[in-house]
Amino acid sequence: MTELHPDRAEHILREVFGYERFRGQQGEIVRHVSAGGDALVLMPTGGGKSLCYQIPALERDGVGVVVSPLIALMQDQVEALRQNGVRAAYLNSTLSTEAGREVESRLASGDLDLLYVAPERLLLPRMLERLANARIALFAIDEAHCVSQWGHDFRPEYIRLSVLHERFPAVPRIALTATADEDTRQEIVERLGLEGARVFVSGFDRPNIRYRIAEAGGDARRRLLDFIREEHPGEAGIVYCLSRKRVEAVAEWLCEHGLNALPYHAGLSAELRQTHQARFLREEGLIMVATIAFGMGIDKPDVRFVAHLNLPRSVEAYYQETGRAGRDGLPADAWMSYGLQDVITLRQMQAASEADEARKRLERHKLDAMLALCETTACRRGVLLRYFGDPFEAPCGNCDNCLSPPETWDATTAAQKALSCVHRTGQRFGVGHVVDVLLGREGERVRALGHDRLSTYGIGGELDEAGWRGLFRQLIAHGLLAVDLEGHGGLRLTEASRPVLRGEAHLHLRTQSRPPARRARARSE
Ligand code: ADP
Ligand code: ZN
Repeated sequence: MTELHPDRAEHILREVFGYERFRGQQGEIVRHVSAGGDALVLMPTGGGKSLCYQIPALERDGVGVVVSPLIALMQDQVEALRQNGVRAAYLNSTLSTEAGREVESRLASGDLDLLYVAPERLLLPRMLERLANARIALFAIDEAHCVSQWGHDFRPEYIRLSVLHERFPAVPRIALTATADEDTRQEIVERLGLEGARVFVSGFDRPNIRYRIAEAGGDARRRLLDFIREEHPGEAGIVYCLSRKRVEAVAEWLCEHGLNALPYHAGLSAELRQTHQARFLREEGLIMVATIAFGMGIDKPDVRFVAHLNLPRSVEAYYQETGRAGRDGLPADAWMSYGLQDVITLRQMQAASEADEARKRLERHKLDAMLALCETTACRRGVLLRYFGDPFEAPCGNCDNCLSPPETWDATTAAQKALSCVHRTGQRFGVGHVVDVLLGREGERVRALGHDRLSTYGIGGELDEAGWRGLFRQLIAHGLLAVDLEGHGGLRLTEASRPVLRGEAHLHLRTQSRPPARRARARSE
C-alpha cells in the first residue's frame, strides 16, 4: 500500500485539479477513503462528490473503479480528467469492441488511475475476472440511490453490486448520492453491505433560501398574487400546482392580473413545453406555473422564488423543488400555501393506492414528515436538514418560524370536542358535516340524521368555521384523525386519538392564520 503523507491529498487537489482547498467535508472523506475506509457520502448535486473518490484513487495504488449509470456523463468526466493529466478511461456500450479491448488491456497492465464502468458491464463475469487480476485502489458507486427499489431511478443491476463486497473484501468502497432521506440511506447500506461505512452528510443547507409555509386560509391564489407583486415584481419564479387543470387556471389568472406567466405540464404538446421552457430560461421575469413535470435538469440561476400552491408529497420533493430557487446564491423565497383539502387529498390518494403494504407504509411516513415540517413551530431549516441527517444548528434566522415565532395555544379541549364529535356521529362523516354539528347548525342533513340531538351538537362556540377546519387539518396532519378510503373524506379516530380523548395527553398547536413573514424589499444585509 502507498505510504500516506498527510498533505499528499492537498497536493493532488492543487496540482492535479487546480483547487486551493477542500470544500466542506471533502478533505475528511478523502482522508478516510485513502486510508482504506468505506464511506457513504450524501451531498447535493454540485456539492463536489467526484473529488471524494478521484483523489483517493490517485493516492492509493492501482485503479479506482467508478460505477456510474450515467453513460452520457462518463465521457465528459473522463475527458476532464485526461486534461488534468489523469490516466482515465471508460467502458460502456457506446464504445466499439476494439476501443473496449484497448481499455481492458490498459487495465491489465496497470496503466489506469480511474476507470468508469456502466454497472451492467462491470457485472459481466469476464469483467469481474479482469478486475480480479488487476490492482484496485477502490470502488466508487456513484448515484448509489439507484439500488433503492422504491426510488425513481431504480436499476436492478445496482442490487447485484453487492458482489463487489463479496469478491473484493479488501478493497474500500465509497457510495455517493444526492438523495439523502433516511429510507434510501438505509437501503443503500443494506443492499451494498455498507454497515461498517462511515456516513458523511453535508452541504444540504441553502442559506439564501427563506422558507415560509402558511396554511391556506382564504384564497391561496390571491395570497400568491400579493406575494409576487409585493416581493418579486418582474422576477423569475416557479409556481407548483398538483393538477394540470389547476396549472392552466392559475397561469391564466396570473396573466389576467398583469403578470407574465406560462403553463407547463405533461398534457401539453412536447413542442409547446419546449417553447415555454426555452422562454423561461431565456427571457427575464417569467413565471412558470407547472406540475412537478417541470424542473428536472433546469439550471436557471436567477429563479427568485418557488411557490407551492399544494403540498408536495414528501420532504425530498419539497427540498428538490424549492432548491431550484436562488442557485446564484442571492436571496430567494420558498413560499408555500397549503390547506385542509391538500391533507385530505394526499391521505386519500395514498390509502387508495395499489401499492403493497410496505410501500404504503413508506409513503405514509414520507407524508407525515412533510406534514410535520408544515405544522412545526420550530426552525423550518432545522427540521428540513435534520430530516436528511445534516446536523444543523437551529435557529437559522431565515425562515418564517425564526423571523416571527408562531404562537401556540392549548388545543386540548377543542381537540377533545372535535374527536368526540367524530365519534358520536359514527366515524363516517367528513369535516364539513362534523363542523356543522359542532357549531350547532340546523341544516336539513343534520336534522335528518338526528345529529342535532347529539351531546356534541353546538358545543363548539369557541371557534368559528375556519378555526375548526384549521384544527381538523392539524388533527389529520398529526395523525389524530384518519381519512377513509372511499373518497368521501369520512373521518375516523386513530390509536393516537385515545390519549387526547381520555385527557392523558395535551395538545399544543400553532395558532392559525398568521400572515407569513415578509421579506423586506430593502435588503438590509
Ligand atoms: P457532484 O458530483 O456532487 O454533483 P462535482 O463533483 O461535479 O459535484 O463538483 C461540482 C463542481 O464543484 C465542479 O465544477 C467541481 O469542479 C467543483 N468543485 C468541487 N470541489 C471543489 C473544491 N474543493 N474547490 C473548488 N471547486 C470544487
Ligand atoms: Zn429558521
